[in-house]
Amino acid sequence: MHTYKILSAGYNPVMLKNYAGAEPEKVLKEVFGYDSFRLLQKDIISSVLSGADTLAVMPTGGGKSICFQIPALIFDGITVVVSPLISLMQDQVDSLSAAGIPAVFLNSTVEWPVYLEYMQAIRKGETKIVYVSPEGLNTSRIKDLFSESGVNVSCITIDEAHCVSEWGHDFRPDYLEISFFRKRFPSAVCLALTATATKEVRDDIIKNLALENPAVFVSSFNRSNIYLGVRQKKQPLLQVLECISRHPDESGIIYCFSRKQTDSLTEELRAKGYSVQNYHAGLSDEERAEHQKQFIRDQVQIIVATLAFGMGIDKPDVRFVIHYDMPKSLEQYYQEIGRAGRDGLPSEALLLYGAGDIRKIRYFFDENTDTEKAEFLLKSMTGYASGRECRRKNLLSYFGEKYVLQDDNDSYYCCDICRKGPLPLSDMTVPVQKFMSCIIRTNSRFGISYIIDVLLGSRQKRILDNGHNMISTWGIGRELSKDQWFHLGELLIASGDIIKTEDYGVLLLSKKGFAALKNREKFMFPFDPGCDDGIVSEKDISSPSFRAGVKSSCGANGGILFPKPAGRGSSKKGFILHKKTAFSKSDDSEDEVSLPLLDELKKWRKRTAEEDNVPPYIIFGDRTLRSLAEHRPVTVEALLEIYGIGDAKAARFGEDIIKVIRDFSDEKDR
Ligand code: ADP
Repeated sequence: MHTYKILSAGYNPVMLKNYAGAEPEKVLKEVFGYDSFRLLQKDIISSVLSGADTLAVMPTGGGKSICFQIPALIFDGITVVVSPLISLMQDQVDSLSAAGIPAVFLNSTVEWPVYLEYMQAIRKGETKIVYVSPEGLNTSRIKDLFSESGVNVSCITIDEAHCVSEWGHDFRPDYLEISFFRKRFPSAVCLALTATATKEVRDDIIKNLALENPAVFVSSFNRSNIYLGVRQKKQPLLQVLECISRHPDESGIIYCFSRKQTDSLTEELRAKGYSVQNYHAGLSDEERAEHQKQFIRDQVQIIVATLAFGMGIDKPDVRFVIHYDMPKSLEQYYQEIGRAGRDGLPSEALLLYGAGDIRKIRYFFDENTDTEKAEFLLKSMTGYASGRECRRKNLLSYFGEKYVLQDDNDSYYCCDICRKGPLPLSDMTVPVQKFMSCIIRTNSRFGISYIIDVLLGSRQKRILDNGHNMISTWGIGRELSKDQWFHLGELLIASGDIIKTEDYGVLLLSKKGFAALKNREKFMFPFDPGCDDGIVSEKDISSPSFRAGVKSSCGANGGILFPKPAGRGSSKKGFILHKKTAFSKSDDSEDEVSLPLLDELKKWRKRTAEEDNVPPYIIFGDRTLRSLAEHRPVTVEALLEIYGIGDAKAARFGEDIIKVIRDFSDEKDR
């Protein structure tokens, strides 16, 4: 049996079997501790193993890494992974090392003696995966190394492949050079991976990386474990606190529009006793790196950040992402909420949305802004935020995917709109007549805010100057709140009775609307009177059943969400028997996770991570700890049945875990 040495810092050498030519399923189980592939993973892996150039498009958290890591173990030679995320390479290599996969990275952060050691490991075939940065790839040192006669490059994987496209938001000119590197290794198969879905980007990747007749796989973009919530921004601090309270001690990110807002929210949360750090471009590189590290290592619970935060983090257990301010496009929103729940466990995305956000975004348009495009993006974003149809459907259709709800239960975990259910049609004839009359009386020259202010009887200077406090519609709309009027205005725009001009957002009656008003037609709308106090109470999201992840959520999800390990459990050999509800968090929960044991396991994980100087999730993900706390394995064989525990982790951590479980159970029995 061939053995490899683990070279990464932080880990003792671990022996690994040689998997050259092995079946992918065997590697999945023995190395990663997973029972089955997610949708498309198997196809992508088979394609790569067959030697075909392959492009795989999967959302964040979809499981792209395994698509190159498993072939890397099966191929004879090494797999070169090109990645722009230098800051992530250490983590990725540590993760692989923990699973017993020998990997190294070559970039400018590696000290020269270590670099030499890594080069030697590559020459001797002691490593299977080598991460390189795109700028490093074309240096003669690296080109020469991989061209040495003893070095066999089997696969070139291009991670974040959208960086090769000018359509992508992270275009990197260095990426264009990859095709030259690739030409030097014609026998190596090429795998391009990205989470960016558009056709333009896909075509650019194929062209600019010179992929030859590639097999293209595009998976569903539905992140079904992320609950999508939107609330009108009323008392944002309170709304943020309410969301955090649903996630005690769980990691979360809060995105703000400006540095100033980021700093002040950080202070406010800190004053309330939360463990929180800020992150934005105004901090020094060192401060940013330190705050990020604290977050990744669970030393800080919450990061309040501008959009600068996220690209360089791979933390799988972020349980909530709050947008304190609305992002400027759905692309940005989707990318940012995608940082929640990469491990597939239930997570929450909350967007706070107010009309002021639109003004703020527009304020920062400058001479370099392609205004037409920016307005289009903004409109899609506000359409999502103010829409009254399933958020998931709206979001996925923007990315060109059709989404169909699967059953009643799905709707509960889907979004605030689905949870609330369809709204009945209400007779809104009188308010609509008032609204339309007010537009006419003010000569169709004003935007929605102004019209609403007149209806509510505002004495703003502008209104007094225009004499609009003297017209008959002034102050006749006090039966609805400002938010309710906004909501009604949006419904009228959506129905086409009112037109909002592109340039200044002036409201006009359409022909249809005018005729309906004139003929005194009835206006029936799915009006939501509760729109002003948050769209729905989301307290249920913290219910045991939601958080235990008992139900796979919406749509075809590639098996991402909450599978309960079937057929295993307390009655089997090697597991400690426990009564169904003995330590479970709630009698009505299907979940049998013992929370006190979970706490013990988390403490053990944190200690071990600190000793090894790695983030806790590299030791084990939350899902593995939950599975341990549920099944309580006390033999190595039983451990190997747990989600996410392969041979190397069982060998390295098995005894410790069994001790934690035994000590805990003895304590309880006493
Ligand atoms: P991506 O790179 O697409 O964002 P990752 O490769 O980081 O996603 O995978 C996300 C998480 O899903 C990781 O914790 C990974 O170990 C896990 N995962 C991947 N494939 C499987 C699988 N077949 N079964 C269970 N978990 C998986």
